Amino acid sequence: MAERRKAVALISGGLDSMLAAKVVMDEGVHVEGLNFFTGFCVEGHTSAIRNEDQRKPKRNNALWVAEQLGIKLHIVDISEPYKDIVLNPKHGYGAHLNPCLDCKIFMVDQARAWGFMEENGCDFIITGEVVGQRPKSQRRDTMPLIARESGAQDRLLRPLTALNLPPSLPEREGWVNREHLFGFHGRNRKPQIELAKRFGFDEYAQPAGGCCFLTDEKYSAKLSDLWRARGQRDYSLDDIMLLKVGRHLRPADHFKVIVARDDGENNFLEGYRKQFVYLRTESHEGPLTLIDGCPTPDDIELAARIAARYSQGRGADAVNVSAHHPNGVVEQFRVVPIGPHQVPAAWHV
Ligand code: SF4
Repeated sequence: MAERRKAVALISGGLDSMLAAKVVMDEGVHVEGLNFFTGFCVEGHTSAIRNEDQRKPKRNNALWVAEQLGIKLHIVDISEPYKDIVLNPKHGYGAHLNPCLDCKIFMVDQARAWGFMEENGCDFIITGEVVGQRPKSQRRDTMPLIARESGAQDRLLRPLTALNLPPSLPEREGWVNREHLFGFHGRNRKPQIELAKRFGFDEYAQPAGGCCFLTDEKYSAKLSDLWRARGQRDYSLDDIMLLKVGRHLRPADHFKVIVARDDGENNFLEGYRKQFVYLRTESHEGPLTLIDGCPTPDDIELAARIAARYSQGRGADAVNVSAHHPNGVVEQFRVVPIGPHQVPAAWHV
């Protein structure tokens, strides 16, 4: 009896990686999933915070996909080594600050180099890539580059687009039958939707704009602003989490005001109170506001006026605002809410 082959599938939580894993499972291969946490993932973190997103199911889609497929999922935090990919992408950025090509090379390399393959006796790696789906990272000429630079070489199988590529080792060795693979290409999603139907998947995640916040124009603008204002290209995990939440206003390079936009964000920002100067409107209901940076006393008063503007007291003559410092000191302000015309457009990050 032929030896049962094993493979590791990169699972983003989206439809393509789900289908790719399923195609290979149907070839009799034992598949385990691998999901990477970069800190920028849209999945299962801040995506569920806002009130307007309440109708979306609150779940980690990668876990959900693994459950649907009946495979084991390994979730690995690569947020620290991933920094170098975001800060210094060898192949540059996509439309925004998304280093997709370097990211794909890195993820395949992590799957290969992490030791998982050896430890678990995996013979090859599966991804849901499709030739022509993304202008920069998923082109016919970048597919071999990803295989080469990641070190995976021909142990990298893309079942959805395999017929557009030379046969990989799993195909040549007969571990999977090339005739059962696909030649999807381009941005048209119909073939994937048809295949999902054929597999009986009537529910799947369709993340708008990709798998991470780096493809988002507004998010990328906030990250650029952070680097510019601090005079260095670097970030912490807290920085990139906070960029996903709240209204960000930067009156000056040395400080920024982050105002919660609804109850969900309010609750999320509560978790950061010990690290920042934070403001509460006392005389009127209002959002929690954090001040990021090194504010002077005048800056804190200005931030209090901004917080008042987004409170129920925006039309009042004055609003009481308390400012809480990380050392426990609490200051009280009575401020005039800043008027809409006193907030320059340039403050909105
Ligand atoms: S969208 Fe984000 S996670 Fe996906 S390949 Fe691009 S940089 Fe990587």
